Amino acid sequence: GRSLQDFDPDVAAAIGAELRRQQSTLEMIASENFAPLSVLQAQGSVLTNKYAEGYPGRRYYGGCEHVDVLENLARERVKELFGARFANVQPHSGAQANAAAMAALLEPGDRILGLSLAHGGHLTHGMRLNFSGLLYEVAAYEVSEKDFRVDLDEVARLAREHRPKLIIAGWSAYPRQLDFARFRAIADEVGAYLMVDMAHFAGLVAAGLHPSPVPHAHVTTTTTHKTLGGPRGGVVLTNDPELSKKVNSAVFPGQQGGPLEHVIAAKAVAFKMAAEPEFAERQARTLRGAKLLAERLLAEDTRAAGISVLTGGTDVHLVLADLRDSELDGKQAEDRLHSVGITVNRNAVPFDPRPPMVTSGIRIGTPALATRGFGDDEFREVADIVATVLLPGSDEAVVEKLRARVAALTGRFPLYPDLEAPQ
Ligand code: PLP
Repeated sequence: GRSLQDFDPDVAAAIGAELRRQQSTLEMIASENFAPLSVLQAQGSVLTNKYAEGYPGRRYYGGCEHVDVLENLARERVKELFGARFANVQPHSGAQANAAAMAALLEPGDRILGLSLAHGGHLTHGMRLNFSGLLYEVAAYEVSEKDFRVDLDEVARLAREHRPKLIIAGWSAYPRQLDFARFRAIADEVGAYLMVDMAHFAGLVAAGLHPSPVPHAHVTTTTTHKTLGGPRGGVVLTNDPELSKKVNSAVFPGQQGGPLEHVIAAKAVAFKMAAEPEFAERQARTLRGAKLLAERLLAEDTRAAGISVLTGGTDVHLVLADLRDSELDGKQAEDRLHSVGITVNRNAVPFDPRPPMVTSGIRIGTPALATRGFGDDEFREVADIVATVLLPGSDEAVVEKLRARVAALTGRFPLYPDLEAPQ
C-alpha cells in the first residue's frame, strides 16, 4: 500500500511538525511524557486491526491467540509492578478506567466524595458536567486554606456528614503525597469503598519513590501515559476477587466494545520498562527536578515579584506556581513560557481570585524532561529559565537570550533521534 507520506502528505506534514515541536521545545506539562520508540512501534502495529471483545481465553471473536498472549503479558506485568492480584488493562483512557471502576462499585444516584476540581481533583472525580457528576451525587473535599494541603480530619468530617458510598483519593494538580491508610480508615468508618486514582504518580509508585495505594484501596486506577511513560490508556487494579469480576464486566461489556490491543501491547512494553532500574533512576531525577524547580521559584528575586509555590514545595513530579500576588496571571505566564519554548499549562490555584480561563497559577512538571535525560544541572538551568521568564521586565533581548538557552538544552538532549517524520 501507499505510505502515509505518499497517500496523505497533509497528515504526514502535521505529524512531522509535531515531532519537530516536541524535539525543539521543553515539555513541562505535568501529565505528559515521551513514550519510547518500542511503545510507539507496538502501538503503531497491525494489532490495530483486531477485534477481541472479551478477555484472554474468553473472546467473542476468532483469531485471538496472539492478542491473548499480549493481553496476558500486560496483565501479569502490571500486577507484578504494583503488587496487585487482579488487573484490567482494557480501559481506553484514565477517564474510562474511572468510569468502569465507579460502575463496578456504585449504582447511579449513589454518593461519592472526591477532591474538588478547583482544588486539584480530576473531572472524573465528580465534576458537574462529567459522567461522574451526572450519574452520581457529589460531595467534595477541598484543600485547607491554611496550607493548601488535604486535611484528613476534614475529609473524615465530610465523610461522616455525607455518608458517601465511595471516597476517591487522587489528583491532577496537587504537589504532595496522600495518606492512603488514613483514607481507608475513613472509608471503613463510614462503610464506603476507597478508590485511589494514581494516574499522575503511578510512575513514582512503580519506582518505589511514592507510597503505594494498592494495599489500601478497594480499587486503584491509573493512566499509563503520565509518569508511567507508556501509551495513552487506563488500567484498573484490585486485590479483591469479587470486585475484579465486577470491574471486568464494567469495562466490557459495561463501558467498552473491542479493546485496543495495539495499545494493550504498548502497555505491556511500558510495564516491562517500568520494572527496570533505569526507570527508577529516571523517576528519581523527575523528583529531584521538581524540587530544584520549587527551590528556584522560592528564591529572593521571584519572591520579591510575588511568585510563590503552593504548599512551599513538592514531594512529587510537579510544582504549582502561585501567581496570585504576581504581576503575571496564569494565562500570561503560560504564554510567556511558550514564547521561549517551554510548554506548561495554566492552572487555577485553590481559592483563585481570577477566572478559570485566566487563573493565578501554572502547573509545571518534570517527567518528560527526565525522560529526555535531564539531571540536576539541566533542571537547575531550566528552573532558572522559568524563573527569569516569570520575573517582571524581561524585554525582547532577555527573551532572545532565554530562547537560546532553551535551544542549547534541546540540542544537547536529542529526542527521538531515530525517528524521522513519517515516511
Ligand atoms: N485521573 C487523573 C488523576 C488525571 O489527571 C487524568 C488525566 O488528566 C485522568 C484520570 C484521565 O485520563 P485520560 O485523559 O486518559 O482520560
